[in-house]
Amino acid sequence: MKDGVDGVQLLDVYDLLPFDNPDGGPWKQGFEITYKGDEWSEQPLELFLIPHSHNDPGWIKTFDAYYHDQTRHILDNMVVKLSEDSRRKLIWAEISYFSKWWNDIDDQKRAAVKRYLQAGQLELVTGGWVMPDEANSHYFAMLDQLMEGHQWLQKHLGVKPRSGWAIDPFGHSPSMAYLLKGAGLHNMLIQRVHYSIKKHFAQQQTLEFLWRQSWDSSSRSDITCHMMPFYSYDVPHTCGPNPAVCCQFDFQRLPGRRTFCPWKIPPKPITDQNVQERALLLLDQYRQKSRLFRSSVLLVPLGDDFRYVESSEWDVQFNNYQKLFDYFNQHPELHIKARFGTLSDYFQALHQRLSTTRTTLPKLRGDFFSYADRDDHYWTGYFTSRPFYKRLDRKLEATLRYHRSVDGRLAENFPAREYFQWLTTGRRNLALFQHHDAVAGTEREHVVVDYGTRLFQSILNLHQVLQSSAHWLLLLDKSQYHHDQSKPFLQMDEVISAQDALPQKTTLSLSLEPRSLIIFNPTEQLRTSVISVVVDSPDARVVDAETGRQMAAQISAVWAEPNQPSTDTFQVRTSSLIRLLITAVCFNFLFSHSKSSGSTPRARYTVHRRGNPPDIHTEHFQVSSLQGSEADAPLSLSNKHVQIWSSPETGLLEVRIFKSGLVRKIQVQFLWYGTRTGSRDKSGAYLFLPADEGAQLYTSSEPPLVRVSRGPIFSDITSHFPHFTHTVRLFHLDGHAGKSLEISNLVDIRSQVNRELVMKIVSDVASGNRFYSDLNGFQISNVDV
Ligand SMILES: [Zn+2]
Repeated sequence: MKDGVDGVQLLDVYDLLPFDNPDGGPWKQGFEITYKGDEWSEQPLELFLIPHSHNDPGWIKTFDAYYHDQTRHILDNMVVKLSEDSRRKLIWAEISYFSKWWNDIDDQKRAAVKRYLQAGQLELVTGGWVMPDEANSHYFAMLDQLMEGHQWLQKHLGVKPRSGWAIDPFGHSPSMAYLLKGAGLHNMLIQRVHYSIKKHFAQQQTLEFLWRQSWDSSSRSDITCHMMPFYSYDVPHTCGPNPAVCCQFDFQRLPGRRTFCPWKIPPKPITDQNVQERALLLLDQYRQKSRLFRSSVLLVPLGDDFRYVESSEWDVQFNNYQKLFDYFNQHPELHIKARFGTLSDYFQALHQRLSTTRTTLPKLRGDFFSYADRDDHYWTGYFTSRPFYKRLDRKLEATLRYHRSVDGRLAENFPAREYFQWLTTGRRNLALFQHHDAVAGTEREHVVVDYGTRLFQSILNLHQVLQSSAHWLLLLDKSQYHHDQSKPFLQMDEVISAQDALPQKTTLSLSLEPRSLIIFNPTEQLRTSVISVVVDSPDARVVDAETGRQMAAQISAVWAEPNQPSTDTFQVRTSSLIRLLITAVCFNFLFSHSKSSGSTPRARYTVHRRGNPPDIHTEHFQVSSLQGSEADAPLSLSNKHVQIWSSPETGLLEVRIFKSGLVRKIQVQFLWYGTRTGSRDKSGAYLFLPADEGAQLYTSSEPPLVRVSRGPIFSDITSHFPHFTHTVRLFHLDGHAGKSLEISNLVDIRSQVNRELVMKIVSDVASGNRFYSDLNGFQISNVDV
């Protein structure tokens, strides 16, 4: 890695690396580290051993179960054990747990916590509600969980986190670095990075760097980042390169205790007799690790998942290490100053040392995806695990965002007090779901049901708040506002009946009396949008409430089955320029039943299935079936920007985009991935391990039923396959809607085991091998593949 003026693009590093996997000896994924022994004569090794306990807010157990069984005991013990020796320290990251515990403890314990914070024995690191997933989470939710934690800390403890701690998210995003910097943090630590990158960075002594945003030409976004060099954050993989040695210094693994060393050499309690031998063995690991960094200040974590539950664990770890530290400190010829520290203790000493030795850190741009921990175990399976809940996450996020745009417009006298709790709970449930085993989809079944129930409940509650807020905004005379929970003034157009249910459209009953529809535009711009409403009559009419003018609209069938339109529900789609929410009365539409002239045009349908033409009966729509040679011709739709057509045989789409005479071709394909055979490792929630033959074209036993609908507002082609329904829609409108294609898939592969379905878009865009992908909806990353 070059340390040029402009910093380093991680992309260049990808080009450099062979991504081979040679056996590095004791440090399997690294190399042999050597030292002479006099490297620390002038600048002693300054060791900070950082006790930590990684508490997942839900994974194998739910958030509440972990809290009850483990977390509260860890924090209760902390209050006692930190008081026994002022040299003891602990860092804590997850404010979701910390705040829950805070509610349960008395004033005496609270006072102790404040003393420890003041004395620097306890540090709250990152200060987020959770340690978020950095791949699936949207930046809005990443920021919200950070704000939720920081505001809690500000309000209850008056502290501001300075250093970030992310030891378990499965790959790291520069968006997180940006948010941490913006939240006032100066330093951060990351752990799960591809082993080849770690090795390369270790060789170049670039494991500590200034992480800079890809668009930033200044140092404004720079944040000091420490990348842990080895395989894991547990004790065997943090004291130095040799896990068999380091494991002997995890005193929770002493014989007779809860866990053991898989390298078969157990730890020994430190005694006067063995302290020299033990101290020198450990010092060798520390020295080797230190050679991977530019400064001689050394960070070594001491902890693991849910550590320090029992009071005796505190005793064995802290007492044995204190004996080792005492030995080091009594032997100046060893040139090591060792102590327990917090994360900020370490970074403070690091910055001091860098400045006295005039050492600079390299700058780095880029992201740390995809993560592999060993061999070809790429942790990309979690990008698509539990997609249903990933969608529910975005739904709650969007609902909270609507509130942001409404809140500012509500006058002070809006009776919102009772809603405040719902908004807080909604934000905290969304924040909890950003955890790296929640939105990632790597949690157990009963745990995802717990998260899903929280998300679902919050969506329901926030819908009620939205209904009331919109009602309030619409009233010219606010004194007329009243709220009856059982009879809300407004109904939502979409309802969800359970945490695992798909949303259902509300059917609007029409009569000769007009019904009004309020369209909510949460953005701060005028926008033209197509509005879709389900009604109980095919003779609906849409009128602009302000002008009384009839709106262009289209009536389409609601399909109960692929070849069976519903007889009592119909879809009305109209398009309109939607104004801002504040001009509430302007976006009224009246829907009414009308048999008279001027009724709304209906969509016309063409259906086809090769070899087995479907038989469709409907009194409300014109449906024709393709016959003879007609049946072999591609089905085509177009507007002035785009032409799409579908092969009657495959049911799949080809798209042609006309732009200043330029024609681009795009083809949609569906493929199956199987998983590896003959190996224990399979694709799962975490890993994507496809079968050797790679992706196979999707085929089905019977040809698809293809249905084309044509109308004045939109036209679409829908293809029904046994495992999914694929729709491509074209709008006959100006603006962005007319230039874009809407693609939607309804997938049900619950009957399949170890198979994954993918939609692939093949285009003639000459992008070479460069792969562009999104980072948290905030920025784009690109890599050569
Ligand atoms: Zn974790």
